[in-house]
Amino acid sequence: MSLGITTVQLQLALRQSGCPICYIRQQAGVRYISNLLWENVNDVETRERIIASLGYCPEHTLLLASVEVNRHGSAMGTSIIYEHLAQVVIHRLETWHPEKRTSQWRIFIQRILGWLNIAPPRGSLKNVLSVDSSCRVCQIAEGSAQFSLLTLLEELEVHLDDWGRLLATSDGLCFQHLRDCLDNYLEIHPRATEYLIKDTIQRLEDRSKRMNEYIRKHAWDARHEAITPEEHWAWKEMLSFFSGYPPSRF
Ligand SMILES: [Zn+2]
Ligand SMILES: [Zn+2]
Repeated sequence: MSLGITTVQLQLALRQSGCPICYIRQQAGVRYISNLLWENVNDVETRERIIASLGYCPEHTLLLASVEVNRHGSAMGTSIIYEHLAQVVIHRLETWHPEKRTSQWRIFIQRILGWLNIAPPRGSLKNVLSVDSSCRVCQIAEGSAQFSLLTLLEELEVHLDDWGRLLATSDGLCFQHLRDCLDNYLEIHPRATEYLIKDTIQRLEDRSKRMNEYIRKHAWDARHEAITPEEHWAWKEMLSFFSGYPPSRF
């Protein structure tokens, strides 16, 4: 991915509702899944990756099904993938039973060794449902999100006026992505990170103030005071910050 494309993606993401980096992460997931459904359902490498993680995470399982049903009107690809996955799980569970008896025997031996104060041998029974890898869509989406976050910081560092203005018109970074800045990029881009910290404080204080009004006006003695649209919206913006979802999702 070239820097130019990411910069354009970021500019578009900053015009969307909710955290721009979460938006890019979500879009990267949709692109991966669309591509998978378009031509890679039967691709060996793709299927091996799905088996390695025993399916996708809950978020991307839901996304896979909804993208296919909404775009293609059926769940053919999803059915092919998850029927195969079910066969893998059945096979693993069936082959687990003989080992379970071994495991009981191992537990008995370990107890004896424990009574004799002897350290048990290393190595334990592998859970047949344990996975070798995390959700592939998460990996791709997270890579895209982190690259975009780094690009945003680079742009803020160099073109603070332009990108600061763009950021001000957006919903700002979510909690998770601000935390990523502090964890990973504070030393590389201190000016940009400090700017994001100040921007977040300002947004949180503003939302907090409106939320307090919203709370106060629900009290009996303030029941005749009208709650403004901004005060109605404040809690959604606050949840958007903590979750990364657009305020309209709440
Ligand atoms: Zn985010
Ligand atoms: Zn995932």
